[in-house]
Amino acid sequence: MKAQILGNVQDGGVPHLGCECDVCETARENPAERKLISSVMLKQSSDQESATYLIDATPDIRNQIGTRYIDGVFIPLATLGHITGLEFFGPEGPDATELSVYCSSDVQEYMMENDPYRLLIDRDTVETHTVKQGDAVEIQGGSVEIMNFYHGHVNYQTTGYMVHGQSRKLFFLDDIMEFTEEIKDAIRKADVALVDGTFWSTEEIDRYEEVPHPPIRRSLDQLQGIDTDIYFTHMNHTNPVLREDSEERQEVKERGFNVAERGHEFNL
Ligand SMILES: [Zn+2]
Ligand SMILES: [Zn+2]
Repeated sequence: MKAQILGNVQDGGVPHLGCECDVCETARENPAERKLISSVMLKQSSDQESATYLIDATPDIRNQIGTRYIDGVFIPLATLGHITGLEFFGPEGPDATELSVYCSSDVQEYMMENDPYRLLIDRDTVETHTVKQGDAVEIQGGSVEIMNFYHGHVNYQTTGYMVHGQSRKLFFLDDIMEFTEEIKDAIRKADVALVDGTFWSTEEIDRYEEVPHPPIRRSLDQLQGIDTDIYFTHMNHTNPVLREDSEERQEVKERGFNVAERGHEFNL
C-alpha cells in the first residue's frame, strides 16, 4: 500500500482569507505556491484504478483527488478542514452513491443532526459506518486501525489512524491540542507518523489560547528520541517551517524530524 500526502496546512488553507503575509501573497500570485489542506490518500498501488481511500475530506478536495474514484473516506472530526470536502460528492458534484464514510459515533451524530451532511445521508450520497477504538477497517492492501483520543478543543473524541500496510505502519493524527502519553505511545508503534505541527510557537498568533495546538518548538523536545520517522503537518500559514529557507525548518531537519510536503509518498 502507498500513502500519499495531499496537503500540509491547517483548515483555513494558504492563502489564508484576509492575510497579507508573504506566504499568502506569494500563493495568490503563483498557484504553484498554493498549499492545500492536510489530507492523506491511501492507495493499493500506483495504478490509477486501484482502490483508494482518503483520511480527511478537505475543502481543497477538488484539487487533491482529480478524477480518481474514491472507495471510502475516514473523517476524524467534524471541522472545516476535515469534513467539508464531503459536500463536493453531492448533487452539485459527481452525485456519488453510498460513498463509504468511516467516523466515530460523535461525528455520525453531528452529520445526522446538521445540514448539509444530513442531506448527504438522506439521499444516500454517503453511507456512514461508525468505527470505535480498536476497530480495524480492512481495505485493499492493508487495514486502518481506529485510535480515539480526547481532542479537548472540539469537546469530543478525535480519531487517529494506524494504517497497516504489508510491511510498515503509518500513524496519522493531524489536529490535536497536545501530545499526550497515549499519543506518544501510538507514534512509537509506527514506522512513520504524520502529526500536528500547526504552530511553531505559542506566540505566533495573538489568539493562540482560542485555538491551541502543540507548538513544534516544544514538540521537538517532547518527541525527541522516538525511533519513528515523524513528519509535521497541518501547519498554519504563519508557521515559519512552511518556508524552505527558514532557520526553524533547518532546526526541524537537524533534530531528525521532517515537514510534510504535498505529493510525498510512503510505501507501507
Ligand atoms: Zn484541522
Ligand atoms: Zn498568511
